[in-house]
Amino acid sequence: MDYSYLSANWTAVRARVAQACRDAGREPSEVAILPVSKTFGAEVVRAAAALGLHRFGENRVQEVREKAPLLADCGIEWVIIGPLQTNKAKDVARLAHEVQTLDRVELAEALDHRLQIEGRALDVLLQVKTSPEESKHGLSPDDLAPLLMQLRRFDTLRVQGLMTIATHTDDTAEVRRCFRQLRELRDAMTADGHALPRLSMGMSGDFALAIAEGATEVRIGSAIFGMRTATVS
Ligand SMILES: *Cc1c(COP(=O)(O)O)cnc(C)c1O
Repeated sequence: MDYSYLSANWTAVRARVAQACRDAGREPSEVAILPVSKTFGAEVVRAAAALGLHRFGENRVQEVREKAPLLADCGIEWVIIGPLQTNKAKDVARLAHEVQTLDRVELAEALDHRLQIEGRALDVLLQVKTSPEESKHGLSPDDLAPLLMQLRRFDTLRVQGLMTIATHTDDTAEVRRCFRQLRELRDAMTADGHALPRLSMGMSGDFALAIAEGATEVRIGSAIFGMRTATVS
């Protein structure tokens, strides 16, 4: 297979992200790109790894279970960006480097239990629901401060910031509102003594708005890997 399109797409995405940074008066070095490889097979991820990419976002733990053994020689760090059931905690503790969708204390307990057994720690972001859409996951903004307090007792979970998915709409004002809400929440939590330096927000279709609102990390799937034929939640 010819994967040269990956190199071209990656170069183009980096240029577009850098431009969005400049448009927002920010340095390109302030915004990381998380390639999202969900639904794409191990060979595609291997070709992307050959470009120097080593962190990949995946929605489903089952998919990481399938790909990780095939890519054990690539030094990949898997980042979970999809909704997580507590019964997946064992696989997450074994395979994942980071979870961006922590949204409840029960999940933290399950992860902590399994991480202790593995003797590992995990970087985590808390997913906040900033969109009114029923389909969007995450904790309600009001629940953020209490959860941050509860998470302090888990040595295995390194809370680094917040993640959100904006409303799926052409209305850029609404999309921006979601991103702004996440940044303002972060600022309020920081003022309360919770250090949350990372803001994961923005995808292929809306990353420029997220960068304008302070994203430190954008999650890019289709603009790098192409259209997904399979659907995921
Ligand atoms: C699929 C997905 C992405 C990437 O979406 P694209 O539009 O393909 O860039 C980003 N974040 C989450 C949580 C996703 O599920």
